Order: sequence, then structure tokens, then C-alpha cells
Amino acid sequence: MKLHSVEMPGKLVVTAPATGQIISEIDETPVHETPLYYKRARTAFFKWKSIPTSERLVYLKKLKKYMVEHMDEIAKTISKDTGKVLTEAIVADIMPTLDAIDHICKHAEKILGRQKASTPLLLIGKRSFVEYMPRGVVLVISPWNYPLQLAMVPMISALAGGNTVILKPSEVTPLVGKCIEDLFVKAGFPEGVVQVAHGGKEVGSAFTKGKSDYIFFTGSVRTGKIIQEQAAKELIPTTLELGGKDPMIVFKDANLKRAAKGAVWGAFTNSGQVCMSAERLYVERPVYKQFLKILKKEIDLLQHGTDADADIGSMTFPGQKEIVKEQLDEALQGGAQLLTGKPSGEWEEGMFLPLSVLTNVKQSMKVVQEETFGPLLPVIPFDTEAEVIELANDTVFGLNASIWSKDMTKARRTASQLVSGAVVINDVIVSVANHGIPFGGTKDSGIGRYHGEAGLRIFCHEKAIVEDWGIKKTEIQWYPYKGKYPLFIKLFTSYFQERRNWFTFLKSFLALMRKN
Ligand code: NAD
Repeated sequence: MKLHSVEMPGKLVVTAPATGQIISEIDETPVHETPLYYKRARTAFFKWKSIPTSERLVYLKKLKKYMVEHMDEIAKTISKDTGKVLTEAIVADIMPTLDAIDHICKHAEKILGRQKASTPLLLIGKRSFVEYMPRGVVLVISPWNYPLQLAMVPMISALAGGNTVILKPSEVTPLVGKCIEDLFVKAGFPEGVVQVAHGGKEVGSAFTKGKSDYIFFTGSVRTGKIIQEQAAKELIPTTLELGGKDPMIVFKDANLKRAAKGAVWGAFTNSGQVCMSAERLYVERPVYKQFLKILKKEIDLLQHGTDADADIGSMTFPGQKEIVKEQLDEALQGGAQLLTGKPSGEWEEGMFLPLSVLTNVKQSMKVVQEETFGPLLPVIPFDTEAEVIELANDTVFGLNASIWSKDMTKARRTASQLVSGAVVINDVIVSVANHGIPFGGTKDSGIGRYHGEAGLRIFCHEKAIVEDWGIKKTEIQWYPYKGKYPLFIKLFTSYFQERRNWFTFLKSFLALMRKN
């Protein structure tokens, strides 16, 4: 049974995962309304794309103002809907969204404005530019773990560039989906510019088939592949932000206390339901035992709960609890041992899970190879830098990673060897909080990047423009060709040879002009 959002025909019934109480009911978007949504989005696009970027940013500023004024209310909605603690709702969902709005408001006009490009000498007399033209209707499909940030950041990036947006938020956190819809209404966005389609995978699938101009998807590898296949049929470009199995590497010269605190936060924030959680911890053998002791001490200090002081909230999605259980059971049967936490048979009812650290783990186990997305951390000792690089790269994922060492040369050298969309040195996860640098995965962790310049430009067609003043009567490469071939040979040989021969170049160029 689905404990969280119990689906009834046409309704999403919202159950708070932390308490098990039914807290709301939200109307599902009927699948047959999909064309209507697209029609409204296309109509709105014609006006929205025509207004200057600066005017569109005024709407984003109004959105930010409203969010700042209602921060506590939004945090409580996120916390109720996901089970995450309030501090995490504000720090990891609301703050990055507000920061992204700030960043976009500061840089969008420049990033999306006409850019002058250099023009090669062979195109003498012309000037080159790049323009950014909005694509049209952008479909954003988002997950439940950071339901505000992971929906709103792509939405506002697409909107700033002049696109209209249809959001299909996760059915697991529909209250946040409704909250996002209300935020854009409150900020006064024109009708049809932002629409939210509520519902599960049937609704997501109907909108994916609805011929958007771009699909921005965040979610599982499995769904990402389905969406990519569908998009390929219509040649719809996509960004796919998918799963992770991020390694954390602790060298013996690291600040061990800091690394242990970092590991605990990196592995257990949001109950481990983070695409960039530290999901595998590799510790250099000479400090392995000492590190485990510090790790256990730090974990024992943490409090589960729902109040404002709690450190660890509940799991959000019941299906995820099953995945954690399966990986834990398999590891224990294979000889792994629990440093903290309990075997699944001793777990309490409900959605709060103990924080489990596993030792005596094999690299081939599911808990090391597959995404866990829960509070379960395997720790593995290593002996050499080369060995740990190999182990870290040995999964199908490559989203983020962290390296802990006081030797920055070694840390940077190791970072360069990791097949990963991002690497953080002596900290964890935090690269996502810098909106100015690209975010995205390698291998099964996804396709494409957002945040920073890329985050705005992916939602636009890059249009190359070459200008000529139009004064000259003709061009050397235009007709007639008679007598030009030997002169072109001379022109290009003198130009492209190792050392340019400017005399021959000019002579043949003038001769070509005379042939016109
Ligand atoms: P999911 O793939 O089950 O669902 C994501 C969204 O896709 C939901 O809105 C869902 O309704 C929709 N969906 C499901 N099937 C669909 C279909 N056939 N067609 C269209 N839409 C469909 O993922 P989830 O369980 O919500 O999220 C957890 C996953 O997301 C984890 O794997 C996690 O690592 C990943 N994630 C990645 C990032 C990132 O930035 N790389 C961030 C957060 C989460």
C-alpha cells in the first residue's frame, strides 16, 4: 500500500510521511487536458518571449519577494509533505531556489544577450554574433526529494529566457507541487506562462508525449531512459539529472574530525535521500579504525524527529524504505557488519529509519553498486591512491564525489581522475549550492548541465548571425568560378601553411576580386 499519497480516482490524497496523517487532497490533472495545457502555453509564449529579459526578471523578483515573506510557511509545507526536518527544508530547498533567482536576475541579461564573436580573416568585412532565442514550451518533470528546488530552479531558468513552462511535480510530494503553482500565481505571472500538471507517471507520460520544445527531467535512471526514448521519437532535446552513488574518499592526512562530521551529514542529511549523498565511504587503512570510532560518536549524537531542533526526519517515499531494506539485508547476509543502526527485522513501524553504517563490505555488493537513497553508509578501507580512484570510478554512476586531505596537490590530482560531474574537496554535496558553476552527471547520472551560463542557455536556441554592410557588389566565392580555382589554391595555401605568406595571400585575394 502507498502510505504517502494514496491515489484515488482524480485525486492525490496527501499523507504526511512523518506522522502518517492525511493532510490534504489535490485534484489530479486529467490526462485528456494535456493538449489544452500545451495550447495555453503556446499562446502565452508569443507574448512572453517578446517582452525584454529585464521585464521578465521583474516577475522573478516578485516571486523571490513573496517567497522571502512566506519562507516559514513554505518550509513547513515542504517539511510536512516530505518528512524532512525544517532546517533542511529551509537550507537545502528554499535557500538554493532564492539564490538561483538572485543569480539569474544578476546575470541573465548578459548571458542571454547578443554576444559578439570573432570573425576569421577569410570573412573579411563581416561581423559575427550569437543570439539566444527561447525554444518555446519547456516541460519540467521533477522528483520528491528536494521538491521545491529541483522543480523551481529549471523553471525560473527557462522562464528568464522567454520560454513558457509546464511543471509535472512528483506525485509523492503533491503539496509542494501545489505550493509552487500558488507561488507563481501570487507573483503575478501572466496566464499560461507557468502551468502545473498534478499527477503520477501517467500524467508525466502524457505530457512527455505532448511535443514540448524541451524536457528537463530530474529523477531516476529508469524513468530518465523512458523519457529520453520518447523524446528521441520527436527529436525533443532533453536534460536528464539522474541518480548517484557518490564516493567519499578520506586520506590518512585528512582532518579526521571534520571528515567524520562531513560524512555523517553527507550520508544522512534528508535521511540519505539526496542524489549527491555520500553513499560509499573509502577510508585509508592506517586511520580506518580510528575514523570508525569518531564516525560512531558523531552519529550517536543525532536526534530523529519532527520539531525544529530535530536532525533527522523521516523517509519520504515508502518504496525507498524497501530499497534500503533490500540492500541492508543483502549486505548482512554477505558478511557485512553494522557499526550503527539495526537489522531491518528490528526497525520500527513508520517512516523513520535508523542511521546504519556497514563495515566488512564488498565492492560487489548492491549497497556499493546501486543507488540506496536512504540512511545506509558502507565503509571500505583502501591502501593506495590508485586503488581508491579505481574503486570510486567502479559504478555506473558519476554525479558528485568528495575528497578529504590536507595535501591539496594530492586531493586535486585525485579529483581530476574521478569520472564525476563534480568533486568537492574537504566538504561534501556543497557544489550544488554554487549556482555559478555547472551541475550535472556523467555516465548513468545523466545528460547535460544546468546552473551557471549553461543553465540559461540550454533553454534557448543558439542562433549564429553574420552581418555584412552590403556595400560590395559581390563576393570572391560567388559565381562566376571561371579562372578562380588556381587563385583559391594560392590563397588557401598561403593562408593555412605553417607560416602565413601574407604577400601571396594578398596578391591572390586581389586577383580573385578582379575576376568578379
Ligand atoms: P522517478 O523517476 O520515479 O520520478 C521522477 C518524476 O518522473 C516524477 O514526477 C514522476 O511522476 C515522473 N515519472 C515517472 N514515470 C514517468 C514516465 N513514464 N513518464 C514521465 N514522467 C514520469 O524519481 P523519484 O523517485 O521521484 O526521484 C528519485 C530519483 O531522482 C533518484 O534516483 C535520485 O537520485 C534522482 N535525483 C536526481 C537528482 C539530480 O539532480 N541528478 C536530484 C534529485 C533526485
